[in-house]
Amino acid sequence: MAAVLNSPDPPLQVLHEVFGYGSFRGAQGEIVDHVAAGGDALVLMPTGGGKSLCYQVPAILRHRAGRGVTVVVSPLIALMQDQVGALDELGVPAAFLNSTLEGDEARRVERDLMSGKLVLLYAAPERILTPRFLAMMESLSERGLLSLFAIDEAHCVSQWGHDFREEYLGLSALHERFPQVPRLALTATADDHTRADIVERLQLGEARLFVASFDRPNIRYAIVEKDEPRKQLLRFLRDEHEGDAGIVYCQSRKKVEETATWLSAEGIPALPYHAGLDADVRRRHQDRFLREEGLVMVATIAFGMGIDKPDVRFVAHLDLPKNIEAYYQETGRAGRDGLPADAWMAYGLADVVNQRRMIDEGEAGEDFKRLQRSKLDALLALAEAHDCRRVRLLAYFGEASEPCGNCDNCLVPPATWDATEAARKALSCIYRFHQQGGLRFGAGHLLDVLRGKATDKVAQYGHAKLSTFGIGADISEAQWRGVLRQLIALGHLRAEGEYGTLELTPTAREVLRGEVQLLLRVPAEAPRRGRIARAAKPGREKAPPLPLDDEATARFAALKAWRAEVAREHNLPAYVVFHDATLAEMARALPATLDDLAGISGVGAKKLEAYGREILRVLESGG
Ligand code: ADP
Ligand code: ZN
Repeated sequence: MAAVLNSPDPPLQVLHEVFGYGSFRGAQGEIVDHVAAGGDALVLMPTGGGKSLCYQVPAILRHRAGRGVTVVVSPLIALMQDQVGALDELGVPAAFLNSTLEGDEARRVERDLMSGKLVLLYAAPERILTPRFLAMMESLSERGLLSLFAIDEAHCVSQWGHDFREEYLGLSALHERFPQVPRLALTATADDHTRADIVERLQLGEARLFVASFDRPNIRYAIVEKDEPRKQLLRFLRDEHEGDAGIVYCQSRKKVEETATWLSAEGIPALPYHAGLDADVRRRHQDRFLREEGLVMVATIAFGMGIDKPDVRFVAHLDLPKNIEAYYQETGRAGRDGLPADAWMAYGLADVVNQRRMIDEGEAGEDFKRLQRSKLDALLALAEAHDCRRVRLLAYFGEASEPCGNCDNCLVPPATWDATEAARKALSCIYRFHQQGGLRFGAGHLLDVLRGKATDKVAQYGHAKLSTFGIGADISEAQWRGVLRQLIALGHLRAEGEYGTLELTPTAREVLRGEVQLLLRVPAEAPRRGRIARAAKPGREKAPPLPLDDEATARFAALKAWRAEVAREHNLPAYVVFHDATLAEMARALPATLDDLAGISGVGAKKLEAYGREILRVLESGG
């Protein structure tokens, strides 16, 4: 220990010794220095960016310096156990206090806390604010053993955000009662409103703000037009994610159930998760997703906050999320381990119409609705984009960047067509409807008229006589839908009510006058994915994360089998023992000694001591 404190760079020492990692990622190092020295901080970092280390390393350093315990506020009871389990594996004394503990267990944790032995204590805000817990902290504080408050998911304090939690409002009491204890608030939600709320409500006006890059370079973004979405999803899963763990988001509970059942019938192991399921069922499904390999979770947005499973290889959206923040947070659950992962979404005109309707019919006030609409528009613009998705995503979060080379549009630049004329035709057709007694229609009928189809409805309203009847017969239905989506996305057209009837907005005039040039992506007819697919994977067995030769692949499999046993014994998810990437690197590098093994990323001192010899034996026996 003394050696660590005396070393020129204690944070790096701890990172290496305890976590087995070679270097800090991005802003982590700076944040750790600032917080370890007792500064307050607000950290904005994308999901999967590595927030935990920002408080865990300072917690360890400060504990070693005799400053006592770091109290971590987290809203997610379900995950405290695994986080503490992971720290346990790393040899860091940690515990959690929540309603799942029996009386004696809770008393044991409290004893450990009061003795100053714990480095980290996790608890939910409602627990922390009880008189009993406040009194314990008071006593620790008097003895100089209350080191740091880490407030995770800090956006829960904001009503603007999507996860507002009443109990978070009470956390300002921490600063009032313990003004000398430094605080670190962390969140992945970055919009200005939420940020300002966090600063105000947690009284972090003096705190240093750290805004990490929001880029998640290992995630490949792809957005496809809906065209038999089930088939598209199946192709995506079979071609690119055989045997992988992933999340499929759907909007409604019913669709979640149906999709999970259907995937299972297709031989893809899938579980449903939504707020309408029994708490017990939900817990069981979440647990299986975390602990088993290769499960697909089909879920509403009720699932996911705090899911820190590192090897989620894809996040698929079968329905449009609410806005870019939600999309980014949901897709950010993929690839926390830094290995390649996919964010895939299928969306169509009906999604746009639905989302509009949900906003229009919501209970919120007009101001809030306007904000929601503008956020939806930004998401639509992303979906319709024919340039780099990542550049647009990052720009949304205020970050400038260059085309990424790792999104669908960069990999296979979509062909574009000039839709200026078509857009004028569509708008003038809607205008004609309107002239005819103020009638409004949905997209289906509009397209029938434009394409000159003699349907019953066309006959009923005499629309075959309109000058716009059949003027767009040369343009495919898919292209027309693109035109309408784009017009809605750009705000020239509004879809209203249950049937999504279309109405011109004031700016439609500019399009009608030909002042707005529309360049649209040509809808992909054939499956484009195949062309950018990664190397095919053999069978259902999950492929190793690095390309390995046959012998190394056998060693990787043997290491995984060994890991599964350890995880079972310790009642922990396998990734808590070692990440796939760490096992793969062991299989590839074939370390012969404990020293060699210690050089592999993810192997800290405690794990080396606990498992080193066994691993060398597994490697020697060759799998
Ligand atoms: P967040 O809470 O920001 O979503 P986590 O703290 O869960 O992200 O970190 C995501 C993953 O990245 C974890 O599996 C963690 O072990 C890993 N990680 C974080 N920092 C580093 C680092 N400096 N080097 C290697 N791996 C890291
Ligand atoms: Zn790109």
